This record gives sequence, C-alpha cells and structure tokens, in this order.
Amino acid sequence: MADFAGLSAAWELARRGIKVEVLERGAPGQEASWAGAGILSLLLPWNYPAPLQALTARSQRLYPDWIDAIRKSTAIDPEYRRTGMLVRPPYDLEKAATWLPGHTVTATPTALAGFGQGLWLPEVAQVRNPRLVQALLEGLRQLGVTIHSGIGTISLTTGANRVTAAVSDDRRWPADQFVVAASAWSANLLGQHTAGLPIRPIRGQMLLYRAEPGRLPCILYEAGQYLVPRADGHILVGSTLEDVGFDKTATAEARDRLHGFMARLLPDVAAASPIRHWAGLRPGAPGNIPIIARHPTLENLFVDSGHFRYGVTLAPASAELLADLMTGKAPEPTLRLFAWPDIIRAAPV
Ligand SMILES: Cc1cc2nc3c(=O)[nH]c(=O)nc-3n(C[C@H](O)[C@H](O)[C@H](O)COP(=O)(O)OP(=O)(O)OC[C@H]3O[C@@H](n4cnc5c(N)ncnc54)[C@H](O)[C@@H]3O)c2cc1C
Repeated sequence: MADFAGLSAAWELARRGIKVEVLERGAPGQEASWAGAGILSLLLPWNYPAPLQALTARSQRLYPDWIDAIRKSTAIDPEYRRTGMLVRPPYDLEKAATWLPGHTVTATPTALAGFGQGLWLPEVAQVRNPRLVQALLEGLRQLGVTIHSGIGTISLTTGANRVTAAVSDDRRWPADQFVVAASAWSANLLGQHTAGLPIRPIRGQMLLYRAEPGRLPCILYEAGQYLVPRADGHILVGSTLEDVGFDKTATAEARDRLHGFMARLLPDVAAASPIRHWAGLRPGAPGNIPIIARHPTLENLFVDSGHFRYGVTLAPASAELLADLMTGKAPEPTLRLFAWPDIIRAAPV
C-alpha cells in the first residue's frame, strides 16, 4: 500500500513518533498515484458536499508546508506549483455562486484571453505525482519507516474483534494497529471483513504531449476533461471515467477522444502525436466520499481509501484525519462524513 494514501498516512504517523511499517504487494508508486494528473483541487468544487469541500480546503492549506518539509528532507522536488485553473463553460453559475464566498475567483487575466472566457481560479495548484511518491518514499526511509515491497497478496488474521497480524505467503507482521489503504483493492484485502466497503475500480486514461515550456500557462478544465501543463513543457490530457473492473488497458477510443480535446484547444501541440498513453484505476466510492474510519467490528483496524478522483488533493488532510483517529483525537463533527457509512454497518458481514 505504498502510494499516496498509504505513504502520506505513514509520513504523518511517523512524524508523530509512531513506529510504522508499510507493506506493498508490488513496487511502490505504480498504481493510481503514478497515473494521475496531480491537480490539487476538486473539479467544479461546488458540486461536492460541504465536508468534502472542507477536507479539500484543509489539504490545500497543508500542502505548501507539507511539500516544503518533504522537499527539504529529501532534496526531491515534487514541483508543487500554483498555476491556477481556468474552468471553461458549461458550468452551473448559480451553484458556483454558493461556493464563491471565501474563495478567490477573478476575471480571466488578459494573458489567458486566447483560451476563452470562464471562471479563473488562481489558487489551484498541482504536483508531479511520480516525484511526490519518490519524495515520500525517501522521506519515510529517513524517518526510519521500513517499506516491505514485493510481498505479494496480504491477508489479515483476526481474533476477539481485533486484527492480530497481516500475513503474506511467507511472513507475518503483528502490530497494535493496522491501516488498509489498498485503493481499488481494499475490499479484496479485507476479504470476509469487507463489511460492504463500497470501493471499486474506475479506470482513467491520460495522454502526454511534448510542448515548449509556457505554451499553456495554467490548467484548463472543460466538461470533465482537462489539460495540465508541467514546468518542463509537457502537457497532460485527461481523463476518462470508465467502470470496467480491474482492466488497465489503454484504449484507442479514449486516445481519440482525448486527442480530439487537445486538437480543439491547442491544435499546434496536437499536430504531433502524444508521446505516451496510459490508464490507471481510481479507488471509486459513491459521491467521491473517501472512507477514513475505524472498521465497524475490528477495533484496531482502520481504512483510508476511496479518494476516487482526488487522492492526491486529499493526501495531507486525510493522513492528518486518520492519524487523529488512530491516536484517539476526536475528529471535527464536519468530518464525520468519512466514517464507515451507517447503512453499511448494518449490512451482514
Ligand atoms: C487518470 C487519473 C487521473 C487522476 N488525476 C488526479 C488529479 O488530478 N488529482 C487528484 O487529486 N487525484 C487524481 N487522481 C486520483 C488519484 O490518483 C487517486 O485517488 C490516488 O492516487 C489514490 O491513491 P491510493 O494510495 O489510494 O491508491 P493507489 O495509488 O492505487 O495505490 C494503492 C497501492 O496499494 C497497493 N496494494 C493493492 N492491494 C494490495 C494488497 N493486497 N497488499 C498490499 N498492497 C496492495 C498497490 O500495489 C498500490 O501501491 C487521478 C487518477 C487517475 C487514474
């Protein structure tokens, strides 16, 4: 579970002086956390419930210092940059107006006139995901956290309403507390203790283009698709939302659709073929509400998963909330939305 949910939780717990070990079935940083675009914002934030907006806002506040701490201790730069995001129509202006108080939204700057009119959100930042994963891995090593990679499928042994150990084919890891942060595979890992965890894979595909640095100055969002510029000029195009199970195939149909979006917005960049096309599996959860909670029946087991489209955005605040729960600090009432849903607690285990 060595990706954003698992690594950021390990970082937060280790910084609070707790001894942590991370168990990863394969290689760290190869799944959704590698595949994502790294936009640090909800897309059309006004469409999401207030507690999710609050967790996002908390994460956005934590991000600069979080990145600074990781970068200073590791000398790896995850390229946290406030590039801003231009939201192009269509969007529901009335709904957007409910979110505007307390957020910075200004008229589109003249420099962006060529990209059309829309809502300009100047504070939206981004990171370069694979670099942030590398930085977190290095930071954790420095904090003395052991990351056990390539250990294959893990299961949990239990007794008296507690988890007693995490078990692989040839090893056992007993501990006082356990966290499942296995993304789309979290329900598989929980096995008979799934307790109705409503997390399932939702595929997303991306294209990558080479362009001159500065060709696109900000993130552009329109009707579920976006362009994200990196500092070195590369531009990402995303994404799709596909309910196809654990299938990570990158398809010609998605390639054509994403390429068409790029061709409409930046035809000169799209004149060259994309240099890369990939797919990742998001940990999809109803309403994009992650579950950051104690298991309903196993008292020393916690889940930190289901961040769906926003696992990068929500990483620092989710880790903080999880660490609070694990150390007995009561979460703010607004954050109770992330508890194991009652309707699920009532379901047969
Ligand atoms: C195309 C795409 C674009 C995205 N864009 C953005 C964006 O712009 N902004 C944003 O905030 N989010 C974005 N996301 C979502 C974000 O990437 C995810 O929400 C986030 O990466 C989930 O992190 P995670 O650690 O839960 O899961 P993952 O990154 O999938 O990691 C899960 C880890 O658990 C391991 N694992 C699985 N099963 C087991 C097991 N049984 N035992 C041990 N280890 C196990 C896996 O090997 C993996 O290392 C995007 C996702 C995709 C696919």
